Amino acid sequence: MQRQANSICIRCGKVRVFSRKWKDKENGKGSTVTHEETICPDSECQKLVDEKFQEMKDRRALSEERKKTIVLSRGIKSRSPIIFDTKVKL
Ligand SMILES: [Zn+2]
Repeated sequence: MQRQANSICIRCGKVRVFSRKWKDKENGKGSTVTHEETICPDSECQKLVDEKFQEMKDRRALSEERKKTIVLSRGIKSRSPIIFDTKVKL
């Protein structure tokens, strides 16, 4: 089994290489967990991939913000008639 097979650069398709490897102890457990970070062998390509990932992250954050705003404005719209009703009844 080649571990590298499931780590191919999404941009150029090259097999990614391990950039660093470190071990960590899992909290509460005695077992040691090995962390591995892979990068594209082409440093220029890796830079572009990093930028793309950052862009995707930013876009996701932006759409999350938009969703929140929509929910908030809907909440205000649906809530205000109820407030008016109570005022009228009182
Ligand atoms: Zn690449």
